[in-house]
Amino acid sequence: MTQLKETGWNFDNSYARLPKLFFESVEPAPVQAPALVIFNHSLADELGLDTKKLASKEGVEQLAGNQLPAGAEPIAQAYAGHQFGNFTMLGDGRAVLLGEQVTPAGERLDVQLKGSGRTRFSRGGDGRAALGPMLREYMISEAMHALRIPTNRSLAVVTTGESVMRETELPGAVLTRVAASHLRVGTFEYAAGAGTKEELQALADYAIERHYPDIEDNEDKYLALFDEVVKRQAALIAKWQMVGFIHGVMNTDNSSISGETFDYGPCAFMDEYHPATVFSSIDMQGRYAYQNQPAIGQWNLARFAETLVPLLHESQEHAVEMAQEILSTYEEVYHNEWLAGMRAKLGLQQEEDEDQTLAEELLRIMEAHRADFTNTFRALTLAQPEDTPMSGTEEFAQWFEQWQARLDREDEATASSYEVMKNANPSVIPRNHRVEEALEAAVEDGDYSVMERLMNALSDPYAYSSEQEEYTKLPEPGTGPYRTFCGT
Ligand code: AMP
Ligand code: MG
Repeated sequence: MTQLKETGWNFDNSYARLPKLFFESVEPAPVQAPALVIFNHSLADELGLDTKKLASKEGVEQLAGNQLPAGAEPIAQAYAGHQFGNFTMLGDGRAVLLGEQVTPAGERLDVQLKGSGRTRFSRGGDGRAALGPMLREYMISEAMHALRIPTNRSLAVVTTGESVMRETELPGAVLTRVAASHLRVGTFEYAAGAGTKEELQALADYAIERHYPDIEDNEDKYLALFDEVVKRQAALIAKWQMVGFIHGVMNTDNSSISGETFDYGPCAFMDEYHPATVFSSIDMQGRYAYQNQPAIGQWNLARFAETLVPLLHESQEHAVEMAQEILSTYEEVYHNEWLAGMRAKLGLQQEEDEDQTLAEELLRIMEAHRADFTNTFRALTLAQPEDTPMSGTEEFAQWFEQWQARLDREDEATASSYEVMKNANPSVIPRNHRVEEALEAAVEDGDYSVMERLMNALSDPYAYSSEQEEYTKLPEPGTGPYRTFCGT
């Protein structure tokens, strides 16, 4: 087949220049009959790609892994990870990194095919992915991006014309995923376990160059790297908490060094506010419940710190102390991010000592009345508190009065507070019943219009447009608790 010319690919593959330990060269396995089912035009533009060419029949061959774009150097990345607390050797078992696209704006982004066939790291798996979970990742990652939460993104999904065997036979698909990088805490765990000190150092230098170039000349640059990752992870998880996002599988291999949300498997958004909410069917202990996410973030960072010890100081004891000191800042960084986020959700631009209590008291009342997380803040933003299930209760009336008094103490006019709230409280989130409905139409009936309408509503969640109203509705009562499955 002839190469498709001038698609706009501009690869420079720095990861492939790392020591061989970190990857295996492997080509995506061809698929029978690729067909494009969803394509992200605006992301393609950002990447500097020719949308028309890439979405054409020949372009789709690239998105399916049947043909390599010019400049691609396909590899599977090696990594390890703590899964539900247990250390395991992993690696890309069903994904291939095509390379790093250098965008017209000068950004360097990984382009990866997920579901692209077996690799050395596939263990018992088939290296493939089913259509439903790939569409789900596409929808939720793009929704997260629109929510202004750092995340990897989705460029396209193609169906393969082949089926994959799971519990039942399902249509196969390949997702093209775009990320700041695919460096994970688990990549460092792999280096620390399987590599030499030089190889570990090469990885750390690479992470610094790629994500934290400002610290390159720092005297203690590996400690500074840890410090930066602590800050990014704390900020990220605080943002999840602000929109009720539950990642579901916060294993260290799913914890990114760049601070992006990463690995969309059993994730879901909470409707009714309850801190112990868990959706994942395999998370029996609730390890990754909503309320545990901040602490798990710190646990994952402790695993990261352990890998860095040999680079921090000659004396192991001293190195551990240095790392612990930084790790202990996590709680405060997280708390400050959380509080800043809650202040914005309540329209507060100044700081008062009692703000935390005000926020916590609201959450407590919401929990007691099983209030919907998103819609409660939406109702407050629209000055329609009567739309919440707590309305009419004494405790909520009291809280509301305190909040109004607090707003009155702001220097800025109240209108400005409501503007702040509008930018902090999404009017819509990808509600589980809507996501399921869209997936069902697409996978069962080949009807992508439901998903397109949903994605359109989610594309600007802070718009408060009238088209979004339909998507603020809750599932029918009695539909039972929502369950998610690890998307394979
Ligand atoms: P995840 O649950 O997506 O974080 O994946 C955990 C590990 O299992 C990674 O090493 C994946 O590459 C691997 N994996 C998941 N599904 C498959 C599959 N169908 N075939 C091969 N490897 C897989
Ligand atoms: Mg993973």
